[in-house]
Amino acid sequence: MISKILIANRGEIALRVLRACKELGIATVAVHSTADSDAMHVRLADESVCIGPPPSRDSYLNIHQIVAACEITGADAVHPGYGFLSENAKFADILEAHGITFIGPTAEHIRLMGDKITAKKTAVELGIPVVPGSLGEVLPENALEIAREIGFPVLIKATAGGGGRGMKVAKTEAELEEAVSTARSEALAAFGNDAVYMEKYLGKPRHIEIQVVGDGEGNAIHLGERDCSLQRRHQKVWEEANSPALDVEQRMKIGQICADAMKKMKYRGAGTVEFLYENGEFYFIEMNTRLQVEHPITEAITNIDLVHEQIRVASGNGLSVTQEEIQFQGHAIECRINAEDPRTFVPSPGTITHFHAPGGLGVRVDSGAYAGYKIPPYYDSLIGKLIVHGRTRAECMMRLRRVLDEFVVDGIKTTLPLFQELVDNPDILSGNYDIHWLENHLAGDKSH
Ligand code: ADP
Repeated sequence: MISKILIANRGEIALRVLRACKELGIATVAVHSTADSDAMHVRLADESVCIGPPPSRDSYLNIHQIVAACEITGADAVHPGYGFLSENAKFADILEAHGITFIGPTAEHIRLMGDKITAKKTAVELGIPVVPGSLGEVLPENALEIAREIGFPVLIKATAGGGGRGMKVAKTEAELEEAVSTARSEALAAFGNDAVYMEKYLGKPRHIEIQVVGDGEGNAIHLGERDCSLQRRHQKVWEEANSPALDVEQRMKIGQICADAMKKMKYRGAGTVEFLYENGEFYFIEMNTRLQVEHPITEAITNIDLVHEQIRVASGNGLSVTQEEIQFQGHAIECRINAEDPRTFVPSPGTITHFHAPGGLGVRVDSGAYAGYKIPPYYDSLIGKLIVHGRTRAECMMRLRRVLDEFVVDGIKTTLPLFQELVDNPDILSGNYDIHWLENHLAGDKSH
């Protein structure tokens, strides 16, 4: 049994995990950098430990400090949240060597899915449909041959990729050489690994991902999909569950394929299988072996607490539900509230002078922000998430419009005005958008 969890993260996700621990009667330890001494998760945790100066590499990514904090406080498990060390296999190995439970999958599964080429090969073996492309590394000398086989346009992607970095499109043969060399140098700079692979570039896909949870013993379930097509620079901005593009039959079919794959792998914990979806077909792009930012919309439509499930399976207690017991109810939308200019997306750190979160039926706000909170400039600009649930998509939109009017964050710029604009847009209202829609919209293209 787990009795004390150290939360190796900050911001809204640290608070999210802390809430689940409190509900389960598990003691909590917050860790924080010197820039986060006043953070809400630090105030609410049972204990807190300062693990270093503001830069992430010296604090939230500092494995030795985090392990020392576990030993000082007697924490017997670590929840990594998302980002930071959540997909770091070495961290999972080190915790295990210290007899501390990592709330997540095995280090072996993190490694398998962390490398995009081995992830794709594994997906093929597990019967998951993938994007046509190279199932190995692409080098300057074999790039043309592979691209001709796949057919232009092609996308060059970093095998160690993440956050949309190290990705380059080549529309024609003439563009290929440069695309490969730029992707390789970008990948080297971002990930310290210049290996790249190639995929067919899909023109107008949607990004649809399946939430899975496994117990590590061969039982696994899926919790339906999330549509995360509204993106800017490959970063998700607005997510919906269910996808406006799928019907029940399609949902259950792809969901079952993913759940079966997780059973075969004996996957433990929460995970997300990400696909591009075009012309009725799903194409696997990657699997995230952790909790996602957008997990609350799945919680809203299934009424299942994913962090509770993560902690249960990490404790060896199995899943609390079977596939048959899961019911999908209504529709949910999440808006990511970033401390950024809503047009240029330039970060806007500073002090929040006034903060009023909306409420009422079907409204959830996950945020560590409060009036007087000073947003440090060192980290991600996400300051909160607004999640709205309704019986239908139309009711959800109606509620979102009301809630956005109520939300007050003064003193800094936020992305809230962007959502006020989106909630009245005809394409958004009809659910007619793909992964390029938002960037085209922001660029003023009215033709889409
Ligand atoms: P990362 O790990 O860097 O986030 P992903 O493989 O998850 O990379 O892809 C991120 C985003 O890039 C996708 O959501 C999609 O918008 C775009 N993308 C990825 N692969 C393709 C592809 N083959 N064709 C078109 N767009 C793609």
